[in-house]
Amino acid sequence: MIEKFIFKDQEFFILRDDLLGVFNGNKARKLAYFLNADFSDFSGIISHGSSQSNAMQALSVFAKLKGLKFHYVISHLNSNLAQNPVGNFNNALQNGMILHIAQNRQEFAKNLAKTQNLFFINEGVSQNEAEFGFKEQANEIKNYAKKHGLVFDIFLPSGTGTSATFLSKNIDFNVLTCPCVGDEGYLREQILALDKGSKVKILTPPKKYHFGDLKLELFKIWSELKTKSKIEFDLIYDPVGFLTIFANLNAFKNKILYIHQGGILGNVSQKLRYERKFKGQI
Ligand SMILES: *Cc1c(COP(=O)(O)O)cnc(C)c1O
Repeated sequence: MIEKFIFKDQEFFILRDDLLGVFNGNKARKLAYFLNADFSDFSGIISHGSSQSNAMQALSVFAKLKGLKFHYVISHLNSNLAQNPVGNFNNALQNGMILHIAQNRQEFAKNLAKTQNLFFINEGVSQNEAEFGFKEQANEIKNYAKKHGLVFDIFLPSGTGTSATFLSKNIDFNVLTCPCVGDEGYLREQILALDKGSKVKILTPPKKYHFGDLKLELFKIWSELKTKSKIEFDLIYDPVGFLTIFANLNAFKNKILYIHQGGILGNVSQKLRYERKFKGQI
C-alpha cells in the first residue's frame, strides 16, 4: 500500500511495508523466500545479532509459523533488558526463541549450526535468498507508478544494505540510502558484496551516528513525523533516514518514495532508553 503525506513542505509517497501482516517490514520481504523453503533436513534455524534486533523478532515469528526451533546468539545482554524484557526481545522469547550468549557470536552460531544441524541465517538476513521478496516489492512499486504516471526516487535507510541492494537490482528508479550502521565505506562494501554492479546511491547523514544512538534531534524528528503523518516510524533507522533526506534534498530529482520498513515493535525498548537518558526533556 502506498500513501502520501507532506512533511516540512516536502511531499512524500510512502510504501507501508509496516502493514504487511503479523510478519512485516523488510524482514518479511527478506524471509519471503524461506517461507516456502523445505527445512525438513534441519532441526531448526540459528542466527545472531543484537538483543533488540528487528531481524531477531521476525525470525522468531517465522520459526513459529514454520514449526522450527529458533536459536539466537547475542554477545551481551544488558541488565535492563534482562530484568524487564520488552519489545522485540520479549516477543521473540514468547515465540520460543532459544537464547545463547557468546562473545564471538557469529562463530558460536556457525559452530552450533554444524553440531546441532541447524540452518544458519546471516545477521540481518543479509544473503542472496533475500532477493526474492524484493522482486515482489519492486513490482508493487512499478505497478503503482505506472497506474499513476509517476517516476520515483526511492529512499530507504540501511543497516546491512540488503534491502536497498535487492530493490535497486529489480527496479529502474533511482534508489538512495544512507548508513545507520558504520560509515558509507562499510555500507558500500556490503552492497557490492551482494551485487557487484549495484547502482544504489549512498547519501551522507548530516552527522555521524552510531547504531541506536540516543540523540535528541533523532527523537525530535521521529515524534514530529508521528504527529504530522499519523504514522509511527522506526525509532532507530528512520530518524537518521529523514534527517539525511532533508540534508540532501538536491539529490532527489523526482517524487520521493520512502519505504517504511517496519520495526515498530522495537520502538518500545528504544523509547525506554530515550526516557532514561533524557528524563524530563522529551
Ligand atoms: C532491518 C531494518 C533496516 C535495515 O535493513 P537492511 O536490509 O539491513 O539494510 C531498516 N529499517 C528497519 C525498520 C529495519 O528493521
